[in-house]
Amino acid sequence: MSAALANQIAAGEVVVRPASCVKELIENSLDARARAIQVHLREGGIAEIVVIDDGQGMDEQDAALAFRRHATSKVYEPRDLVRIRTLGFRGEALASIAAVARVRLTTRAVGAETAVRVAVDGGEMGPLETVGAPVGTRIEVRDLFYNTPARLKYLRTVQTEQARSVEVVQQAALSRPDVAFSCQTEHHVLFQTPGNGDVRTVLAALYGVGEAKQLLELSAASNDYRVHGLIGRPTQARSSRGYAHLFVNGRPIRHPGIHQAVIQGYQNRLMVGKHPMYALYVEMDPSLVDVNVHPHKAEVRFSEEQDVARLVSQAVAAALDGTLLAATPVRTR
Ligand code: ADP
Ligand code: MG
Repeated sequence: MSAALANQIAAGEVVVRPASCVKELIENSLDARARAIQVHLREGGIAEIVVIDDGQGMDEQDAALAFRRHATSKVYEPRDLVRIRTLGFRGEALASIAAVARVRLTTRAVGAETAVRVAVDGGEMGPLETVGAPVGTRIEVRDLFYNTPARLKYLRTVQTEQARSVEVVQQAALSRPDVAFSCQTEHHVLFQTPGNGDVRTVLAALYGVGEAKQLLELSAASNDYRVHGLIGRPTQARSSRGYAHLFVNGRPIRHPGIHQAVIQGYQNRLMVGKHPMYALYVEMDPSLVDVNVHPHKAEVRFSEEQDVARLVSQAVAAALDGTLLAATPVRTR
């Protein structure tokens, strides 16, 4: 089997849509210790995704290797798979993306005088060029799935693909409030976060200052778990789940059980069918949670789900009770 075909097959695992590309590229930027990450989407990312970071960049040798499958500069021992510190660890993302798109990488390592640029079209790598560019990395991914029509056909509308891609950037911005993110389409800047470390500021960038101001702080801990973050007032509830963000040990996670636990914490204060707005961060010893690191399944299994759910419900209830009590006018007689 040719390397190009192997990479195309691997791409089926890693890259299912523009959003999965965006996720891998952002993770690489974070692994490179970027302080600022810009994401540009054209046609929802189908026509083009550009991710620009100010991370440590790659030297010529790394740039030449970056698109090789299983070429990762992140060295791991098997035990590291239990406690994954950097986000990438398979060395598959760039090779997979480049197998099914036209990619251009421009990167300059810290301390280097010049940048290096290389284009990879459908897995075929062109020559390395020396160019001028700032320290950091810029990756342009054009015409995703141009050479795999079956997968192109599987994509949804530009609007849907864009929504998914933007959600990935939102999740990244919420998981790393200390990093400045900007997300724009060919038409607008959708949001920009300052990277000041404050989650409320990130939510203000995503949903507006007025909305963010009303959010209630929450913090609770048991022996094994810690939960903190911000939850919406009952009046801020939405008909979609898209405003609910859960992170477990820093990773964005979908967990219907914990979402239900949050809803339960609102007791009868939410209208039926409404979903609360929240950004909740659950921290625990990594041995108590099984993170399925499959590229596009952000799922976890807790060894004691009941315990986590109870802590979350209680913390939500306490945050709401505290506020509603405080809002009750004090009787003087
Ligand atoms: P992985 O992240 O699993 O190592 P990738 O295919 O995503 O594999 O990336 C391959 C390699 O390319 C990385 O190990 C890293 O050395 C380099 N790389 C990719 N993106 C960046 C970036 N934004 N900044 C610096 N280096 C990068
Ligand atoms: Mg990676």
